[in-house]
Amino acid sequence: MKLSVDRKACIKSGQCTYLHPDLFREEADGYPAVLVDPVPATSLKDAEDSVEVCPGQAIYLKE
Ligand code: SF4
Repeated sequence: MKLSVDRKACIKSGQCTYLHPDLFREEADGYPAVLVDPVPATSLKDAEDSVEVCPGQAIYLKE
């Protein structure tokens, strides 16, 4: 599975980087960078959670 962030939808709320620092890091411009590719099986639940909590519905988890 692969995580991606739609920068057009991201409102830079910081939930993803705050709640899941193993998966996301905040870049200098305020947008999150995805740290894992692919998502390790052990982080799949966290990845799904990041999709659910994102207020901009900007995080996608795909095959
Ligand atoms: S939680 Fe969503 S809106 Fe907030 S910084 Fe992460 S991708 Fe952007």
